Amino acid sequence: MSVKVYSMPRGGIAFDDPFAPREFETAFLPVFSVIPLIQHTGTKAYPIVFIGEYVKEGMLIGRGQGVGSANVHATVPGKVVRMASWKTIDGEANEALVVRLEGSFEKLGKPEMPHPWEDLPPSEIQRIIAEYGIVEMDDGGRPLADLLSELSPVSDTITLVVRCVFDDPWLAADITLCNSRLKDVVEGAFIAARACKASRIIYVSSKNENKLAARLIAEASQHPLAQKVSTDLVIVGNKYPQRNRRELELALRTYEKNEKDDLGRFFIAGPATIVAVFDAVKFRKPILDRYVAVGGSAVKEPKVLKVRIGTRLRDVFDQCGGLTDAPERIVIGSPLMGRAVLDIDEPIVKNSYAVSALKKEQVGGTVERSCIDCGECRSVCPVGLDPEELFKRCKTEGILAACGCYGCGCCETVCPSRIPLKTIIYESQANRRTV
Ligand code: SF4
Ligand code: SF4
Repeated sequence: MSVKVYSMPRGGIAFDDPFAPREFETAFLPVFSVIPLIQHTGTKAYPIVFIGEYVKEGMLIGRGQGVGSANVHATVPGKVVRMASWKTIDGEANEALVVRLEGSFEKLGKPEMPHPWEDLPPSEIQRIIAEYGIVEMDDGGRPLADLLSELSPVSDTITLVVRCVFDDPWLAADITLCNSRLKDVVEGAFIAARACKASRIIYVSSKNENKLAARLIAEASQHPLAQKVSTDLVIVGNKYPQRNRRELELALRTYEKNEKDDLGRFFIAGPATIVAVFDAVKFRKPILDRYVAVGGSAVKEPKVLKVRIGTRLRDVFDQCGGLTDAPERIVIGSPLMGRAVLDIDEPIVKNSYAVSALKKEQVGGTVERSCIDCGECRSVCPVGLDPEELFKRCKTEGILAACGCYGCGCCETVCPSRIPLKTIIYESQANRRTV
């Protein structure tokens, strides 16, 4: 039986990267952990431990301060030896508690006591999610408690969308997570559905991972809660950036229309976020580690690693055999949409799903030539923009009015003249937004 595939209506690219990792390696523990007080979108968490104090694994060390901020926990036991501070490439300041590993682990390698959650009301599940500092693990790092509270006054139908869309090889860590913790993804989805008061769950999967999707659905159908919360599967295309919220919603609205099925509002979460919800609610455990795809042309042995939050990038690259050359750019997140970092001692944070060290040849737009008017950039833009034209305007006008570019990088990737289209267009637009 052929399966209907729902895809974004325009643009996109088939994106592969020979320098993205395929193999998984088990966790390692760094001697020093750098645990930032900002691992979310808002203001920094307020530190509640001091230099010289000992902390336990999983202990609250920074208290979130209002909307956008989230609690921060120690990810290893040890002594707080100093505070570190640095600036991101955008000039934003961050601070961290540096913990030297000492003493025994409270949770690692120990049997865990599950907490029954099936009778908890949504408000209590939301409180636990806030207490354990859960944020979007594969996106911008918005606190989940904020997103849930935005939904609270709404009486519409809500659908939980579990985003298993792997349109980018740098999402290898999420595939590893789904395969290794499949049952937890499924139970975590039922918990998240309770938290957001969703009446149904839709797993959205890329066509190229349909076997994984079939396993998820089979597991979900056997869960005791399957009688109360319906679970469906929607298959989407493999093109990048299908996983982006805008493109995902467009594909789901087409499904809704075809199936004549009211999906209401969407609450979208990736598998890493779902598993973080599972750990918090079922085991009262904050986010201690995460799977990270580590690679890029300057990394000797690209791998998917299970990494403690707070591990420095330097240690992560060492675990992959080290760097072959001084990289031109280090990026947290996918090379296409990620955040460049200035310092190899920056740590892995809750939403660092990938880390890459790129040689000059792998960095787009470094050897710019003249536009040959091939039109490739126009054909791949999912928003329907004319990147060539926008780029020219940026060069002459300096800044752009908001045009809808969200920096997917498709145009820059396909440009035969290696013109830094996305870099200039997205940044110019961002500047205008802040004026
Ligand atoms: S980076 Fe912006 S202009 Fe380029 S393809 Fe993506 S949305 Fe379009
Ligand atoms: S892809 Fe590059 S060379 Fe082709 S039209 Fe766009 S800017 Fe010009």
